[in-house]
Amino acid sequence: MASAPFIAIAVVAIGVLAWLIGAPLWRARRRAAVMAQPLPAASAFAIDRNVPAVRHLPPELRARLESLMAAFLAEKEFVGCNGLVVTDEMRATIAAMACLLVLGRRGHYHELHSVLVYPTAFWVEDEVEDEAGVVEKRRRVLSGEAWEASRIILSWEDVLEAAHHPGEGYNVALHEFAHYLDAEGLGLSGGQRSVAAWADDLAAEFDSLLEAVDRGEFTFLDPYAAEDEAEFFAVATEDFFERPAGLRDAHPRLYELLQEFYGLDPASWTTQAATATDSSA
Ligand SMILES: [Zn+2]
Repeated sequence: MASAPFIAIAVVAIGVLAWLIGAPLWRARRRAAVMAQPLPAASAFAIDRNVPAVRHLPPELRARLESLMAAFLAEKEFVGCNGLVVTDEMRATIAAMACLLVLGRRGHYHELHSVLVYPTAFWVEDEVEDEAGVVEKRRRVLSGEAWEASRIILSWEDVLEAAHHPGEGYNVALHEFAHYLDAEGLGLSGGQRSVAAWADDLAAEFDSLLEAVDRGEFTFLDPYAAEDEAEFFAVATEDFFERPAGLRDAHPRLYELLQEFYGLDPASWTTQAATATDSSA
């Protein structure tokens, strides 16, 4: 006959096993239900107004964007900072930018818990060590930050800059979410190549930008991209979605590498939209 401690251990083990199997299934079902809900009309209107890059999305990608947004909005917490009250417009706009980046990718933002939103650019204080080993406090003003897996910080005023100046290649939300995906390390969207081979090609593109900047040449990419490889990827991502045809013309190889990473071809969206408009005119 089984002893009482053995039965107790067996019951606990079965419970843990049921939870291990059941919890992911339950989460997946809940996520599927959320993703099937249509986006509220006000949110759809907000993203059309505030996210120029989504205006030309082909219908199947638009539908996918909206279902990814529904999951993002249900699962991530938005926190207003410095007295900011986060509105549905802010939530929808930021979620659309985050989800635009992962339209062609699988698995993302798993560890992200919250998006902190400041009304304007915000101060951060950190400590830097100089060459002599002296640690100094440093205060900097930022429009966005994505250094931690659990949170991303954005200035709402700066998020809206992309809406006010479409086609200029500036989008702080895309920039910070690109840093996040880069650090998340889930690799490419598909294809046969190894991440290492892809990273070597990206490093070659970075080096040629550095050389151009050193020669004092005009560069299509904001010179901030020359800061380091992480900034290069984030700045190039902004251009990939904000002025894709320009990036493809100026840096065709870089455009291909971003296509490999994101699994998307944003330059074709505007051409398709223009063709559709022409044929209906
Ligand atoms: Zn950056």
